Amino acid sequence: MTATIINGNAVAAEIRNDCRERVKRIVARGATPPGLAVILVGSDPASEIYVRNKIRACRDVGIRSVEVRFPPDVNQRSVIERIGVLNDDPSIHGILVQLPLPPSFDIAKILHAISVEKDVDGFHLYNVGGLVAGGTVFPPCTPFGVVKLLEHERIPIEGKNVVVVGASNIVGKPMALMLMQHEATVSICHAKTRDLAQFTILADILIVAAGKPKLILPQMVRTGAVVIDVGINRLKDGTLVGDVDFDGVAAKASYITPVPGGVGPMTVSMLLYNTIGSCERRHQVTKPASTSDTNTLVAAK
Ligand code: NAP
Repeated sequence: MTATIINGNAVAAEIRNDCRERVKRIVARGATPPGLAVILVGSDPASEIYVRNKIRACRDVGIRSVEVRFPPDVNQRSVIERIGVLNDDPSIHGILVQLPLPPSFDIAKILHAISVEKDVDGFHLYNVGGLVAGGTVFPPCTPFGVVKLLEHERIPIEGKNVVVVGASNIVGKPMALMLMQHEATVSICHAKTRDLAQFTILADILIVAAGKPKLILPQMVRTGAVVIDVGINRLKDGTLVGDVDFDGVAAKASYITPVPGGVGPMTVSMLLYNTIGSCERRHQVTKPASTSDTNTLVAAK
């Protein structure tokens, strides 16, 4: 078997086209266009690139972005105060704080300062809790992007054995909860999992977000499995790779995502999607009905 390679760039571009149309509809009604505030503390080179990409993506679909920069030695209180100002600003519909923050920061305190209605990254406790109990306002962007990719490829989730490798608060755990909402049987593995292969081999859908190159080898994957590689690792020679031995696993899987060009572009598209959703809610614009609306699904549970 040779896997179908899921083209994340193409799916992400479709979502951005849809985002562009939604922004046009908002503006055509004479309403304030969507606005996203991006907060960056310090000058971590990777964060600088992520922020630049997000701002460029906003511009591409018509979202107004505001970059808020702080020096690395800024007082945490000043950042929280600024978040308070942005929470009260009606022209801002989404606020994100680029992670990581300097070690002296209490990340939870910063993230929880963002109003739930503007938490487009989906990291606020209310949004995280909503994944368990129902009522999430914004699904976190990376796992949301994975669900959209599966839906786009018409890969059924209901009743499937899904194994998520990685249990972080921003990827692995919300990913697992979202797939439970889609009626999958989900196992979560992490660094302390004994004999990882014993779990991964059972997966109809294997989602890997550990940040370890070549963690997943062909012998750990069931023939015909769907393999989604969230990992992004830069090797010493500068090459970007995921967590999956791509060539070996692609020969066995039915579907696989490449790195780069798989999940990565989806994350930014879902950020745009969530920001526009926030603006539409503010203006009470009805979004075209979609069977793949995770918000609706989560709220309905
Ligand atoms: P993280 O916070 O470092 O979490 C990594 C998770 O993987 C942890 O739960 C860890 O287990 C687990 N893990 C580590 N080594 C393992 C092993 N050998 N076997 C099984 N599990 C293992 O990282 P993250 O933020 O979730 O990101 C994960 C990867 O996804 C990174 O490569 C990151 O760059 C990438 N990422 C990509 C996107 C995208 O848009 N494509 C977005 C976000 C992140 P413990 O909990 O036991 O420590």
